[in-house]
Amino acid sequence: MSDKFDVVVIGGGPGGYVTAIRCAQLGLNTACIEKRINKQDEPALGGTCLNVGCIPSKALLDSSWKYHETESSLADHGIKIKGSDLDLGTMLQRKDTIVKNLTGGIAQLFKANKVTWLQGTGQLKAGKQVEFQPLDGGETQTIQAEHVVLAAGSVPVDIPVAPVDQNLIVDSTGALEFDKVPKRLGVIGAGVIGLELGSVWNRLGSEVVVLEAVDAFLPMVDKQIAKDAQKQLEKQGLDIRLGARVTGSETTKTKVKVTYSDKDGEHTESFDKLIVAVGRRPYTEGLLSQDAGVSLDERNFIYVDSQCRTDVPGVYAIGDLVRGPALAHKAIEEGVMVAEVIMDEHTQVNYDVIPGVIYTHPEVAWVGKTEEEVKESGDAYKTGVVPFAANGRAMAAGETGGMVKFVADEKTDRILGMHIVGPQASELIHQGVVAMEFGATAEDLQMMVFGHPSLSETVHEAALAVDYKAIHVAQRRRKK
Ligand code: FAD
Ligand code: NAD
Repeated sequence: MSDKFDVVVIGGGPGGYVTAIRCAQLGLNTACIEKRINKQDEPALGGTCLNVGCIPSKALLDSSWKYHETESSLADHGIKIKGSDLDLGTMLQRKDTIVKNLTGGIAQLFKANKVTWLQGTGQLKAGKQVEFQPLDGGETQTIQAEHVVLAAGSVPVDIPVAPVDQNLIVDSTGALEFDKVPKRLGVIGAGVIGLELGSVWNRLGSEVVVLEAVDAFLPMVDKQIAKDAQKQLEKQGLDIRLGARVTGSETTKTKVKVTYSDKDGEHTESFDKLIVAVGRRPYTEGLLSQDAGVSLDERNFIYVDSQCRTDVPGVYAIGDLVRGPALAHKAIEEGVMVAEVIMDEHTQVNYDVIPGVIYTHPEVAWVGKTEEEVKESGDAYKTGVVPFAANGRAMAAGETGGMVKFVADEKTDRILGMHIVGPQASELIHQGVVAMEFGATAEDLQMMVFGHPSLSETVHEAALAVDYKAIHVAQRRRKK
C-alpha cells in the first residue's frame, strides 16, 4: 500500500464516497478510509445512509405501505384479496438485499475509478498526516496526504432516561430489525425518524404512541403543512402526544415501562418495544488527534467555512459532521464541492435551496422559506395554496389528502419557498428546487404548460393561486 495520496477521505458514507469518486474523476490519487462492518460481518461502504438509514428505511416504508394498501384501500378499487398475510422475514430480507446490492455497487465504483478503499479506522494528525488502523488487525500506518476530507458522519443522540439496549429499547438501527411486529410500540421523538419508522410499524399492525417533548408538531415545517400532516398521520393511527417529556423507563424481560410528564401531569405507558429517535450528533470520537488543529463549534460540529474548509489549510469536513441539515443529499453536494475546490474550481453549494422530505404517507416536502420565516423577516409576501382534492389524477389514484403551497415575494414575485404535504411530494418538490435555483417567479411557473392529468398540475395551480388565478379552486382575494 502506498503511504502517500493526493487526497485521503475519512468516512465512506454518501459524503465521503462521493468526494472520493469525484476527486478520482478529477485525476487525484485518492484513498477512502471506512471502518464499517455490516450485518453480514463484512467491511462495507455507503455509511449510515446506505446501510442503516435512508435506503433500508425507505425499503421498509415501501413494503409496509403495500401491505397497508392491500389490507385497507385496495377494496376501494374493487380489488378484493382474501387471506393476505404478512411475511416479515421476507420483507426484512428484501431490505437487506437492496442494501447489499447498493453498498456492493459503491465498492465497484471505487474499483472503476481507481479509488483505494482502506478498510479500517482513520485519525487526522498534525501536518495532514492520517493514522490508519486496518480492520484486519494489521500494523498501524501513517499516510501523508496533500488534502484530507473528514466525512465521519453522525450517530444517534442518547438520553439517560431511556438507554438503548438494542433489545427492548432501540435506536433507528434496531428499529429496522424487529423480528416480529410489536403489539404496542413507543417512539420518543416526533422528528423525521420517529415519524418514518413509527409509520412502518403502525402499517404492519403496531399500536404506535409517539412522545414528543416540544409542544409544536414538526416546527421546521410550514405551519399550515405541518397541521395537515399531523391530522392525516393521526387519522392513520399514529398517537402523537406533544409536550410529552420522558422522565424515565424501566425494562422487564418483555416490556418497557415509560414515564413521561405533560401539562396534565405524570403518565406511565407500557410498550413491547421503544424506539429512541431524539436526533443525531456529529461522530468525532477518535477522528482527531489532540494536535490535529481542527476546531469544533459550540455544538461540537467541526467548524468549516461556506466551502467546507476547516481551520487547517488542506483539511476539509463535510456532511453530518458539519453545520446545516443532516441529509444525505447535502453531504453529497458538499463532497462534490470540496473535490472541485481542491482543484481550484469555482463552485458553491446553494444552502438556501436544499429540499427536505419526510417519507410518511402522505409525504411532506419543502424547499426554501416557510410562510412564518418570511413573515418574521418583515418582507411583503403572497401565498398560493391548492389542495390535491382539486386534482383529477389525485382523485383517480385515491390520494386527495394534502396540498401544495408557494410563498412568493410580493414585490419581485420571486418564489421564496415551496411546501407540500401529499402524494409524491418527494418527487414534486424538485419542481420548486429547479424553479428556485433558476430564480423563477410565480409568473414563470404560471406561464408553463403542465401535462394533464398529473399531480404536477397542483404545482401549477398553486403558482396560479399566488395571484388569484387558480381555475379549479374558488379563491377569495385577501384584504390588503
Ligand atoms: P455517514 O453516512 O454517517 O457516513 C460516515 C461513515 O464514516 C460511516 O460509515 C462510519 O463508519 C465512517 N467513519 C466514522 N469515523 C470513522 C473513522 N475514524 N475512520 C473510518 N471510518 C469512519 N437522509 C436523507 O437525505 N434522506 C433520507 O431519507 C434519510 N433517511 C435516514 C433514515 C435513518 C434511519 C437515518 C439514521 C438517517 C437518515 N438520513 C437520511 C440521514 C443520512 O443518513 C445522513 O445525513 C447521511 O448518511 C450523512 O452522510 P455522511 O457521509 O456525512 O455520514
Ligand atoms: P430530529 O431532530 O428530526 O427529531 C428529533 C425529535 O425528538 C425532535 O422533534 C425533538 O424535539 C424530539 N426530542 C428530543 N429530545 C426529546 C426527549 N427527551 N423526549 C421527547 N422528544 C425529544 O431527529 P431524528 O428523527 O432522530 O433524525 C435525525 C436526523 O436524521 C434528522 O435531523 C434528519 O436530518 C436525518 N433524517 C432524515 C430523513 C429524511 O430526510 N427523510 C429521515 C431520517 C433521518
